[in-house]
Amino acid sequence: MPSKTKLNLIIGNPLEQSLSPQIHNFVYQKLELQDRFKFSKKSLEAQELEGFVKSKKFENLTVTIPFKEKIISLLDAVDSRAKKIQAVNTVIKQKNQQGKDLLVGYNTDWLGGLIPIYEKVLNKKFNYNSNQDLENLLASKFLENQKVILFGAGGAGRALGYGVLEVGAGLVIVNRTLSKAEKLKSDLKKLFPDAKITAVASASQGLSRLIKDSKVLINSTSLGMLDLKHKSPLNLPEDCFLAGSVFFDAVYKPLKTKFLQQGEKAGAKLINGLEMLVWQAVFQFQLQTKEFAKVDYFWQSLDF
Ligand code: NAP
Repeated sequence: MPSKTKLNLIIGNPLEQSLSPQIHNFVYQKLELQDRFKFSKKSLEAQELEGFVKSKKFENLTVTIPFKEKIISLLDAVDSRAKKIQAVNTVIKQKNQQGKDLLVGYNTDWLGGLIPIYEKVLNKKFNYNSNQDLENLLASKFLENQKVILFGAGGAGRALGYGVLEVGAGLVIVNRTLSKAEKLKSDLKKLFPDAKITAVASASQGLSRLIKDSKVLINSTSLGMLDLKHKSPLNLPEDCFLAGSVFFDAVYKPLKTKFLQQGEKAGAKLINGLEMLVWQAVFQFQLQTKEFAKVDYFWQSLDF
């Protein structure tokens, strides 16, 4: 590795399954940045997090489970959107006016979810060539007067709930633990006081009535992955769903979860978790390298 190569790291635990090094290193090659950047994994135990972050022995960080919230108090500054979401998945080292290195936190998960939703709801590709394209997408309020059902109120749920409210949606948060859905509702209500937001327990009687007429249904729970692969947060007949609705699962292993299979049977448009993974990486790459790469390269990195 040339001495000028900067080390970007993903920190979390467990990291065996992480696709981030594969994605970022592939795009570094494509843009001939491999002498400037290298992307590796660094698995950390909870008690190691503070010491490692404060050591600053890295260039930038990608942050995953279970540190997205805990890392905030260890940073010098947090961008306004990450502060609102209360989670950081990207840390950038930047110099202040005195030349001191500062660590600044960002969140790109919310955009990672929002872009595929935009593409499916509007039935068109998002041509991302400049920051103005993103500003235009957000200003379009493309979910105005539409109802979104969000299963899950954890870290991913926070980012996805924030994203759909940014573009005008009404939101129903459904979670196994009602108090967590209510906490998310009250946090989001402070940011979007005019939005219609409801919190309900997964076991609630009135769920089918609430879910009817929803444009987008999102699974941000762990149901559907690994040992929970035969499970879905949804337990309703297919005819409950609006024709042309969108089913989005944040889980990407397996690619077609039980939740997405239910959506398929209902004739819905489907978004799998890889689309979120790719889009959050696109925005993260831009922050970490200050370079702009075509979205196609990120998809090519996953051709295996
Ligand atoms: P998290 O903060 O731990 O939240 C987990 C959520 O799942 C909570 O709402 C939890 O409900 C619910 N849940 C867990 N086990 C459950 C069960 N047995 N029955 C019902 N609900 C259950 O995790 P997270 O960071 O939000 O991640 C959630 C999922 O999103 C994971 O599968 C993760 O891989 C995926 N994800 C994907 C991407 C991507 O780029 N595609 C990015 C981030 C996350 P309670 O509150 O009741 O515990």
